[in-house]
Amino acid sequence: MSWRAGTSSYFYSFCTMPVTPFSSNRPKHVHAKSSNAQDFIDHLIKEDIISAQEAKDAINESNRLGRPIEAILIDRQSLTEEEMLSEKGAFLDIPWRAISSEYKIAEAVISQIPEEAAKIYKIVPLSRDGNNVEVGMINPEDVHAQEALQFIAARGNFIPKKILISSKSYENIIRQYRSLGGEVTEALSELEQEIKIEGGALPATRAARTVEAILEEEAPIVKMVSVIMRHASEGGASDIHIEPLADRLRVRFRMDGILHTSILLPINVHPAIVSRIKILSNLKIDETRLPQDGRFHAVIDGREFDFRVATFPTANGEKVTIRVLDPTTGVRALPELGLTGRTLEIMEHGIKKPYGMILISGPTGSGKSTTLYALLKILNKEMINIVSLEDPIEYTIDGVNQSQVHEEIGYTFASGLRHILRGDPNVIMVGEIRDSDTAKLAVHAALTGHIVLTTIHTNSATGIIPRLVDMGVEPFLIPSSVAVGMAQRLLQRLCNNCKRTFVPEPKVVAMLERELKSLPEKERERIPKDGYKLWVAPGCDKCAGQGKKGRIGIYEAFDMTSEMEKIIVTETTEGNILKEANRQGMVSMLQDGLLKALEGQVSLE
Ligand SMILES: [Zn+2]
Repeated sequence: MSWRAGTSSYFYSFCTMPVTPFSSNRPKHVHAKSSNAQDFIDHLIKEDIISAQEAKDAINESNRLGRPIEAILIDRQSLTEEEMLSEKGAFLDIPWRAISSEYKIAEAVISQIPEEAAKIYKIVPLSRDGNNVEVGMINPEDVHAQEALQFIAARGNFIPKKILISSKSYENIIRQYRSLGGEVTEALSELEQEIKIEGGALPATRAARTVEAILEEEAPIVKMVSVIMRHASEGGASDIHIEPLADRLRVRFRMDGILHTSILLPINVHPAIVSRIKILSNLKIDETRLPQDGRFHAVIDGREFDFRVATFPTANGEKVTIRVLDPTTGVRALPELGLTGRTLEIMEHGIKKPYGMILISGPTGSGKSTTLYALLKILNKEMINIVSLEDPIEYTIDGVNQSQVHEEIGYTFASGLRHILRGDPNVIMVGEIRDSDTAKLAVHAALTGHIVLTTIHTNSATGIIPRLVDMGVEPFLIPSSVAVGMAQRLLQRLCNNCKRTFVPEPKVVAMLERELKSLPEKERERIPKDGYKLWVAPGCDKCAGQGKKGRIGIYEAFDMTSEMEKIIVTETTEGNILKEANRQGMVSMLQDGLLKALEGQVSLE
């Protein structure tokens, strides 16, 4: 079993809409352009496909049994299903298709139309190609079904293509809907033995529970929490949100940065589930009014995971968010993160310097800490003393002394840094520079012979220097303390399994040529020789129909050359710094992104 992104998010929005535009208590009326069943029967008679008597008998039986006339005509062998479809398709001017019972539809395609809507309006998804979803309809002329489809397509951001199907084909597809609730129940029993919470030698920050202790506790809830954790880790989710709504408990998973509703549970399990998670992470069960933080460690299918838990009160009760951390895959090498060419060279060169700051900038969620961990991993190979100050600690790395900032008790980046500097480390990682004190201390640490890895909030690499100056760092200290400045963003990586090339429109080619014109000679090698081609991924089984799998960074970096040093001490403006960075041959984030689009790693969007 595997959990897939977005399985019920449409369903969720669908059934919580206070007033749906296609609610069944609207007055029934027939759309002027569409036809009703009688028009089609008249057409069949006119075309001599059925006799007037056959039609009359079928109508009587339809009224008596409450079954559609068309189904009765097929039952009575007045015409075959295929004949009916082809006649009606031609009559309504829409394509038709017969779907056999062997036709299998990917779960990701099925999820495009919520089960409830599929049953009420007799509409089912058939296939998906990018944003285009083929939708099978028994009654394409039904105005309510049309409105429902329009609404669902807008919500799900797809373009529906109507296909006429028979009720037999419809039955073949509707059978493939599996209720999520059922899946959870199924998973509950299946997975009972599969997840064990590890006890034994663990750092004090982790709560260790023995399997025996867990089995003594309320078993169904234990299983339910295990299932949620397993689904999240299996699906590669980065976060789990467990949120009480007015009448249900919503569980959402964040996948590649996007939150998807995964499971809706009855609200009465809420207190027990929250208590269970609190027990695992050593939090106070009876404290429900204050936020709490904790973590626990678990082995799922032989893979180790850290779960970092935060609870906080909401109007409906306590919400729990869990960050899923896979310590084994969490730390990746720089090229795997998408650093390449000159940017990679600058970074590799920068961390070989005996001291200096390596500053990484970008907004929250741009993968800055992932890059810091990659750098730490490289430095960690040497026999050196590495200390980190983090908020939060996202991955534990053997050999690195990691400590967590606790601003509420006065252990800030600045006070922690002062403390650390007394301990004579070689490398210091400071999670983030967000105030003047920390900025000055970090500069001081770099000037006194330390390698300092840190992040800062700016929009570009060249914005880093002016930001430091804004924070009160003397410009003349910057050239000798800053080794590398890099900015980054995260993009969704195209699925390797289903991506394919297409030739972009001339105006897109013109844009690409314009933006890449200033690329340094060496980086031009990344432009494919056989002309500009871009990529799309329509979605497949491997990517749950999303066309995206994982993420990749785009980067820009500058080096501290002697020209750069001069500019910083004389005229520290972002414009001047950018000019020098361009002269050095900096590849901008935009250019890096465009090159990655041409290389087929991301889409142009
Ligand atoms: Zn795919």
